[in-house]
Amino acid sequence: MTETVACALKPQALTLDEAVTGLRDAVQPIAETEQVALAEALGRVLAEPVISAIDVPPWDNSAMDGYAIRHADLAATGGCLPVAQRIPAGAVGQPLAPGTAVRILTGAPIPEGADTVVIQEVCSESSGQVQIPLDVAGGANVRRRGEDIRAGSTVLVAGTRLLPQHLGLVASVGWTSLRVYRRLRVAILATGDELVEPGTPLQPGQIYNSNRYTLRGLLQGWGCEVLDTGIVPDDLESTVAVLSQAATQADLIITSGGASVGEEDHLKPAVERLGRLDFSQIRIRPGKPVAFGTIGQTPILGCPGNPVSLFVAALLFARPLIRRRQGIIPDPDPHLLPVRAAFDWPRPDSRTEFHRARLLRLESGELAAEIYPSRSSAVLSSVVWAEGLVRLEPSRVLRRGDWVEFLPFTELM
Ligand code: AMP
Ligand code: MG
Repeated sequence: MTETVACALKPQALTLDEAVTGLRDAVQPIAETEQVALAEALGRVLAEPVISAIDVPPWDNSAMDGYAIRHADLAATGGCLPVAQRIPAGAVGQPLAPGTAVRILTGAPIPEGADTVVIQEVCSESSGQVQIPLDVAGGANVRRRGEDIRAGSTVLVAGTRLLPQHLGLVASVGWTSLRVYRRLRVAILATGDELVEPGTPLQPGQIYNSNRYTLRGLLQGWGCEVLDTGIVPDDLESTVAVLSQAATQADLIITSGGASVGEEDHLKPAVERLGRLDFSQIRIRPGKPVAFGTIGQTPILGCPGNPVSLFVAALLFARPLIRRRQGIIPDPDPHLLPVRAAFDWPRPDSRTEFHRARLLRLESGELAAEIYPSRSSAVLSSVVWAEGLVRLEPSRVLRRGDWVEFLPFTELM
């Protein structure tokens, strides 16, 4: 495992942007890489650039079904040319004899001597002759060798998270495998004496451990290997024991609950005992008690226990932290979509607020965001209802119809 660098974060509550920048700066990409087959590489992060050894396309070829000609032959022949050969895709024809045309299909190599393809829709062929309009443009409908990719050029840079279109591009230059960072191992644990797993009937005072599944799902979607340490009771010694074990196995630890300042919140004292706590509050709502530190070389992000806060904190903070640690570089901030507010917000918070929101189309055609009626961070149904989050800057009073920034969940998963 590589080192994490000292974190220059302020101890008091951070702004959202300070926190995200600080988290990105506090961790390094993991060092270990592995070679994986192209078919297994979806979602992985490239550790080396992909450099093409070939031109793509490898030869000039036809962009259309039609007739390949030498443009200069048109004037001399009145556009009536004998069809001397036929070249389908995958075949290689003979050089074009002067004064002849070639029946050619999309993707077939342009025969030597031809410079133009005329689409079949404007031609008429009968008895081995084709009549071609005289006004066709020279050079038309020819895809040039190397017009997509030049031999020797870098087609993908290290740090790219591989999406389907990346894999297609890699295949187009003939590579069969890629060097990628190994999967990030993320340990998760849920703190709380009240928690039980689904499958066990609830006793008085108990609730199901939902955060485990929310977190697991996010991490799996982000391409991580999840080390699930289960439920940790609310006592300092148990918390210390689980964290110190997780720190030896994982590249990153993410916890839920126990990160606040109640007498049953043992996360921060446990991190301070085992390592270093860099910050423990961020000026956002929901999700203020977010803690970050390191145990040995392993970064740890403590998220709030409230299920909505956990979800929001994971999207806002775990995601950039994970992406940096996975080696994804650069990692620009997600795009926020400007939309109209379909609500009033007369009494804003002094922290950056995130509202669970979904989009609707106004009669004007513009998109607007409506927000969930409850602000409770315990109502998990709200994030199922929502399609994203509206971000409101601190103390911003909002009137219906004002512009707001909408962060779609799809940008983050
Ligand atoms: P805490 O951050 O530990 O103070 O927890 C805040 C609230 O979130 C409490 O109501 C907890 O019962 C609830 N909570 C904590 N952890 C979980 C979890 N893993 N799943 C569901 N709810 C949780
Ligand atoms: Mg708790």
